[in-house]
Amino acid sequence: MEFHQAAWKEPLIIERSRAGKVAHVPALPTQHETAVAGEDPLGIVPRPLLRESPPPLPELSEPEVIRHFTRLSQENYSPDLGIYPLGSCTMKYNPKICDVVVQNHKLEKVHPEQDESTVQGVLGILYKLERILCEVTGMSRMSLQPAAGAHGEFLGALIIRAYHRARGEANQRSEMLVPDSAHGTNPASAAMAGFRVVVVPSNTDGMVDLAALKGAVGSKTAGLMITNPNTLGIFEEHILEIAETVHKAGGLLYYDGANFNPILGKVRPGDMGFDIVHVNLHKTFATPHGGGGPGAGPVGVTKGLERYLPVPLIGYDGKRYFLDYKVSDSVGKIRAFHGNVGILVRAYAYILSLGIEGLESVAETAVVNTNYVMTRLLKAGLFELPFFKMRKHEFVLSARKLRESTGVRALDLAKRMLDKGVHPPTVYFPLVVDEAMMVETPETESLYDLDTFVDAMISSGREAETNAETVKGAPYSASVGRIDDVKASHPKTIKLRWDNPARR
Ligand SMILES: *Cc1c(COP(=O)(O)O)cnc(C)c1O
Repeated sequence: MEFHQAAWKEPLIIERSRAGKVAHVPALPTQHETAVAGEDPLGIVPRPLLRESPPPLPELSEPEVIRHFTRLSQENYSPDLGIYPLGSCTMKYNPKICDVVVQNHKLEKVHPEQDESTVQGVLGILYKLERILCEVTGMSRMSLQPAAGAHGEFLGALIIRAYHRARGEANQRSEMLVPDSAHGTNPASAAMAGFRVVVVPSNTDGMVDLAALKGAVGSKTAGLMITNPNTLGIFEEHILEIAETVHKAGGLLYYDGANFNPILGKVRPGDMGFDIVHVNLHKTFATPHGGGGPGAGPVGVTKGLERYLPVPLIGYDGKRYFLDYKVSDSVGKIRAFHGNVGILVRAYAYILSLGIEGLESVAETAVVNTNYVMTRLLKAGLFELPFFKMRKHEFVLSARKLRESTGVRALDLAKRMLDKGVHPPTVYFPLVVDEAMMVETPETESLYDLDTFVDAMISSGREAETNAETVKGAPYSASVGRIDDVKASHPKTIKLRWDNPARR
């Protein structure tokens, strides 16, 4: 066996706690820390909110803490360890220089309530980042507040509603069009903002069915939310006609820019006719994606929609940066202060470190990598490619034939790939493809890593043909064996909370 993941019988950190142990020598307590312990030197915390005693945090020595988390990390997998070709997710390696920049103590210590004159540096970074993002998306102005792609979509939907309200058509324009290949967050965000979602089917080329779109638009249309290249990795060739169709009907176009990698520096959503755009800084711009960490999904708009953006925006009068509250019809705040500033600074550092040529090569390399992997996988003859077209950053194969001939499903193949030390593709998404295996190989992967992945996927498929039962029982060399998905998603059978024995 070439690979075996670490498997520790690691107790919970709280179970290893021993009263009195400390991991570092604390500095003198600050005012804030003494307040937590029960005193309130400023006398401003309401009585019932004051803690009687310190919270029951685990008490361990420094090596115990470090070993605990290092062991857990060894039982996991990450883009720092190997290729992570999870389609639709852009799980790419993030340069460490971005961590270094954001850990600068001058940045770490600033507070959003500080006077503008004392935070000119960070406001300058945010202002310049906004300008760059506007330039690459073809938008006029941006809010950096949204904390995720879905959050940006929600803001976009609110802006679309505010636009129609200003024209006296808010009640009439109740429908948001979403293609059937869309990411699930699109219909969810539209519904949360109060719209009725109307699904537009794909045609046999895996693109929006223009005739169906023309049939669906009308006086109730508020807008269309779409990503391009779409979730099948296909560039919507008729995007200008799509935009014209929606605009003619009086709707707005929202660009889901979570798939921005493959067009960065090449094509701008603004030039495709979009009115509102979000980009996922935690996919394209150097913040790790996944794991529940903070993200950022800035939203840009065309000139006519600037007046609906959340406040404050960052302004610059030629001498100093300032918080700009002059937004006449703002939909309000969408998040505290300026959003996740650390993520924004990372994106800025990433963009500067690459420069214009570097940014363009992101798109080129991502697209070449994906088409290389797709071509090699198709040559193996195990999988089918619905909608035969050149792909951008990702593609979706179907393992349907393999399932029919061997009984092995996409999920089994994915689990078997874990035994080979690589992360499998996304499975069963998008829903328009049967036994879908969705692969995205970003620009950060070397030929070696691409080949390692392809070899693992092909050998798992071959094994399905000769030894199906083995594949169905995988994984064998991962930290955790096959998980009972049904049980794992049932709130009654899964225990997510640690019960303090002292309180039982
Ligand atoms: C990831 C993704 C989203 C959602 O982004 P989050 O930051 O996870 O909310 C939306 N659309 C597409 C196409 C995506 O890939």
